[in-house]
Amino acid sequence: MVILGGAESGVGAAILASKQGYDVFVSDAGEINEAYRMELNKHGIIYEQGAHTEALILNAHEVMKSPGIPEKNSLVKKIRAAGIPVISEIELAYRYKGKSRIIGITGSNGKTTTTSLIFHICKHAGLDCALVGNIGFSFARQVAEDPKEWYIAEISSFQLDDIISFRPDVAVLTNITEDHLDRYEYKVENYIKSKFRIIENQNEQDVFVYCADDETTLKNINNYTIKSIPAPIAMNKELPQGAYLTNAQMHIKWRTEEMQMSINDFALKGKHNYYNSMAASMATTAIDIRKEKIREALQTFETLEHRMEPVATIKGVEFINDSKATNVNSTWYALESMEKPVVLILGGVDKGNDYSVLKELVAEKVKAIVCLGTDNSKIHEAFKTVVPQLVNTQNAKDAVEAAFHLATKGDVVLLSPACASFDLFKNYEDRGVQFKKAVKDL
Ligand code: ADP
Repeated sequence: MVILGGAESGVGAAILASKQGYDVFVSDAGEINEAYRMELNKHGIIYEQGAHTEALILNAHEVMKSPGIPEKNSLVKKIRAAGIPVISEIELAYRYKGKSRIIGITGSNGKTTTTSLIFHICKHAGLDCALVGNIGFSFARQVAEDPKEWYIAEISSFQLDDIISFRPDVAVLTNITEDHLDRYEYKVENYIKSKFRIIENQNEQDVFVYCADDETTLKNINNYTIKSIPAPIAMNKELPQGAYLTNAQMHIKWRTEEMQMSINDFALKGKHNYYNSMAASMATTAIDIRKEKIREALQTFETLEHRMEPVATIKGVEFINDSKATNVNSTWYALESMEKPVVLILGGVDKGNDYSVLKELVAEKVKAIVCLGTDNSKIHEAFKTVVPQLVNTQNAKDAVEAAFHLATKGDVVLLSPACASFDLFKNYEDRGVQFKKAVKDL
């Protein structure tokens, strides 16, 4: 088996495949980091870095392609043309998971939060479980090195692109908004299709949790034959089966089970997090976790770094790090949950943003915008008539100082950039860390 890509997915898959007796060859066009190289050496796995040896790769029986490698890559095109089967890492992990069960979470936004919540509930209820995917180990590595009865897997659409039989016992689709279109020939239909693949192999015993308030999900759901049991979540409408909110109470109705909980008791605040908390409660109710356990776990969950993370309050000004908000939709939800006047730090690398969706909320809640990017012209254009003050900055320290200067006691400074970070930072984590440091240095 040839494995393309030598990071967490690739190395995890290589370890699992070699344990299962495959002849494994790992190939990465870039440099493989030292820790991963040491691991490959330890397992006696052959690899190359800095180039792909095509003759060897095109001779493979099967290729495991890491999710970061796009279809338009010339080598991938040649592999396809040669008719060599291509699988993703979750497909390989699925092949060897044995009797263990899977809760798989996908969607455009809220994956990591929902996955972490579900994991926290499962752990709290005493299940033998692991969190796999984006946080923690790759699914394949977990299966190879420390198998569990339950895998709580965060799954990107790229991972779903090359599945064959992957079937989660519970599938969660948080929502679908346009993102990563560059990887789907700029066709939103392709991206939507890829998200719905999470349910393609599900059967009548499985459960499908989805958001019944999400327009794109609803518009497309009837295009698929769904065998699994639907478990919708919604706000402001009662459902005969599923999870919904009315009068600040979450209700769950599932078979003979009923549960209620006040949203004031959720550890995670904000509308988007109410959706995530509902999805997590629904998914864990569906695997028969007791309601007391779900309730306790939702109360004790701690917020995740870079996702609406409270940093500090300085002279009455609260600072929140939402650096993970790399698209307009995430920023919309962040703003929506704000109850105080906001100084918003916005900007970076724009993946084709349409800022008009933010206009109304910005007009209502934002008193000033601090742009943090190399090119801020689109932000100025979109908001110059809506917000009285817009300033440009090019590093975290200047952005934080400018925002602090513009804020007064009782305001919030919110870093929720709606953009990727690659113009000025290594990644969104780096942006968040630098933001927090600058706040602490004030
Ligand atoms: P993902 O893993 O899908 O990127 P995260 O859970 O890391 O999502 O959240 C990323 C950002 O998206 C958060 O900072 C928040 O602003 C926003 N967000 C979280 N959950 C939702 C949701 N259910 N709907 C819309 N936006 C959300």
